[in-house]
Amino acid sequence: MVTETYPMLIADEEVASERLLLRNVEPGPCLDSLESVRFIVIHCSATRPDTDYTVERLLRDHRARGFRTIGYHFYIRRSGEVSQHRRLSEVGAHARPYNRCSIGVCYEGGLDLQGRPADTRTPLQREALRRLVARLRRLFPQARVVGHRDLPGTLPKACPCFDVACLL
Ligand SMILES: [Zn+2]
Repeated sequence: MVTETYPMLIADEEVASERLLLRNVEPGPCLDSLESVRFIVIHCSATRPDTDYTVERLLRDHRARGFRTIGYHFYIRRSGEVSQHRRLSEVGAHARPYNRCSIGVCYEGGLDLQGRPADTRTPLQREALRRLVARLRRLFPQARVVGHRDLPGTLPKACPCFDVACLL
């Protein structure tokens, strides 16, 4: 296991120390502890390669579902651009009933041009996802990296449309 060293930069968030990571964040509920993160959950946006599913559209869709902001902690565009939408210490809204014990990462895509589940990750997305997950694993060494569909008792049959074992 890689030794954790602080400060650690995870996408946009610089984590100076474990204590600072767990300081309260407004306005959402906060994770109980770093150890409470049991899963790093990978999602797809379930959009086609010819759909430009921007952060703005994702935000609008999640607000329409009643979320305060985007439910994932991280979103990765087809360009490989990573954006962060929740602090790491904040409980996400992406994999009920696992939100209190997980970090959510979503990539743009997951459907082919006919709307069928497919691994549509671009090379830049693959690289960005692999790098992000590697850093999250350093921060949460006890957490398992899983696809949304791998979580017992959750609805999606396909998400994230690839075998996350390839990330490890
Ligand atoms: Zn999902």
